[in-house]
This record gives sequence, C-alpha cells and structure tokens, in this order.
Amino acid sequence: MDPALLEEAIKDRIAKTGKKPKAIVPVALYGIPYKIDEIMEVANRYEIPVIEDAAKGFGSKYKGQMLGTFGKYGELSFNGNKMITTSGGGALICQDDAAKQEIMFYATQTREAYPYTSTRR
Ligand SMILES: *Cc1c(COP(=O)(O)O)cnc(C)c1O
Repeated sequence: MDPALLEEAIKDRIAKTGKKPKAIVPVALYGIPYKIDEIMEVANRYEIPVIEDAAKGFGSKYKGQMLGTFGKYGELSFNGNKMITTSGGGALICQDDAAKQEIMFYATQTREAYPYTSTRR
C-alpha cells in the first residue's frame, strides 16, 4: 500500500461522497511489512482505524515490532495453505480486553452473557 496513494484515495472519497473510508487494511504480502509508519500517520490524521492483514506476515517484524500489533486490530490466518496451519481458522489481535469483548460479541452472533451461557474465552 502506497501511503501517498492512500491519502489520495481518502481525499477522493471525501470529495466524491463526503465520507471517509471506514477502515484502512494494509496487507503484508510474502512476509514483507507494509509502510506502517507512513500508513499510521495518514490513518491518525484522518482518524481512520487500521486493521492489519498480517496473514502472510505472521512472524514478520517492522522495526522490531510484530506485524499485526500496530493497528487497532491485526489479523492472522491458520488456513491450510499458510505457513502455520490448524487446517482452518485464524486469530484476531486486539489491544485490550474491551476490544476483545466487543469482537467476541459480534463473532458469536451478538449473543449476550446470560447466567446459563459460557462467555468466558
Ligand atoms: C489467507 C489470507 C487471508 C484469509 O485468511 P482465511 O483464513 O483464509 O480467511 C487474508 N489475507 C491474506 C493476505 C491471506 O494470505
């Protein structure tokens, strides 16, 4: 993802629709990190959350920090065609317990915590 073209695309969306993109999703292809410093700078300036697609960057670092840990969320895949597989599934990296609770709420069809359901994960 080219940070300059990213900003151009954001400006274009705002000019044409009056709306910002809901999220920025940089993809680490072949384990190569995205230009995360520049992308985060644009994202922070426009207050757009970054969701890192680190599926192909599992284990890769940028300036010593693991991919998937820079944005609001990071995503990994353990599908059958990945370096590390559980034959299916993946992982979502989030920054705190509140984010985890929100994600798990949506990931479980918005089931609520009743006394008779197990919501501990
Ligand atoms: C595999 C992959 C995904 C999707 O992972 P699934 O577990 O198949 O949903 C997303 N992004 C990239 C870059 C991938 O390589």
